[in-house]
Amino acid sequence: MAMNQALPHSSWLAELPQQLAALDTQQLRRTRRSVAPLQGAHILVDGQPLLQFCSNDYLGLASHPDLVNAARAGAQDFGVGSGGSPMVSGHSTANAALEADLARFVQLPRALYFYAGFATNASVIPALVAAGDAVFSDSLNHASLIDGCRLSRADIQRYPHGDLAALDTLLTASPARRKLVVSDAVFSMDGNVADIPGLLALCERHDALLMLDDAHGLGVLGPQGRGSLAAAGLTGEQASPRVLYMATLSKAAGVSGAFVAGSEVLVEWLLQKTRSYTFATAAPALLARALQASLRLMEHEPVLRARLQARIQQLRAGLAPLLARTGWRLLPSDTAIQALVVGDNAAALALMEGLRQRGLWVPAIRPPTVLQGTARLRIALSAAHTEDDVELLLAALTELATP
Ligand SMILES: *Cc1c(COP(=O)(O)O)cnc(C)c1O
Repeated sequence: MAMNQALPHSSWLAELPQQLAALDTQQLRRTRRSVAPLQGAHILVDGQPLLQFCSNDYLGLASHPDLVNAARAGAQDFGVGSGGSPMVSGHSTANAALEADLARFVQLPRALYFYAGFATNASVIPALVAAGDAVFSDSLNHASLIDGCRLSRADIQRYPHGDLAALDTLLTASPARRKLVVSDAVFSMDGNVADIPGLLALCERHDALLMLDDAHGLGVLGPQGRGSLAAAGLTGEQASPRVLYMATLSKAAGVSGAFVAGSEVLVEWLLQKTRSYTFATAAPALLARALQASLRLMEHEPVLRARLQARIQQLRAGLAPLLARTGWRLLPSDTAIQALVVGDNAAALALMEGLRQRGLWVPAIRPPTVLQGTARLRIALSAAHTEDDVELLLAALTELATP
């Protein structure tokens, strides 16, 4: 059919333009900006230089020369594509070596490396539970976990964010024999950390499996950045066969992809049963090489995390005097994610726009991504930020807080 041929008026496809227009009216149309790196946290956005506070590259590793050189050498050794599923010819020696490094880094028996985080969550949950089973999901969990729950066809029980008493009640009431509790380890819009020991204790009491998504904790929390589970003291000798740990490699690790880690048998099961593992092309070896370099830096360059922590302290101390004056709330967080809750949608957008006019890019996050009345600026800090960068942000917010 020629592209200029009209669709019949009755076709559902003919409604798409109106539906897009409705998104415009509700100010819900999403647009993209084309971005290119400058120096540090400075980037070009649609040709305009901006200082960004919105990247998940929390340690500034995405452009680190060690990673770039490792990727370049990886491309020379392996080419740029993996050529197939890991079940056929895609499981390179580089990917195999990365899996061993990942397991050692997070101090769990075995790891499995996936090409993307979203696909990992969306397909690992259906490999664990099915119709007749039950999955218990924190109300603030990431979309990929929510989709994984839906795809599994298990009975989905959503519990109020962090409410262990409510979770206990739901677990007690569930007749399912196979129970899975899923939670972000660090919540992506608030920056707070789940009560991992509390969740694990409930899972032990109810014979459930606990799956933790540590997308925002790996590299940031725990000794040497080994993640939220290590920070909770539940790795190595203390590791539980009831925990499935998942983390993305696209945030602090600075590259892309993800992995799951846990007991030998659990990981072997997922290797057998996870559809996005079996039926997707393996990640290119050059990425595994870059990730090996990333793990080495996390382990041996504590200055990266120290720099991030210094920026977090600087921001929180600098914002304190503004809070009383404005009614803004800074959510408790010692992670790179600092949520400045403004409340009103329009106020959050105005603040974002005011910052943009001052050369700063801080995203406003509105419902339904966050709860009604909690529109916010999501300030993402990084080891790539300098002290002056954070001072600029504080000065701009101070100006905007003064009517
Ligand atoms: C980003 C993110 C994912 C998805 O990972 P990708 O690597 O971006 O596909 C999954 N879970 C959480 C909590 C995330 O923040």
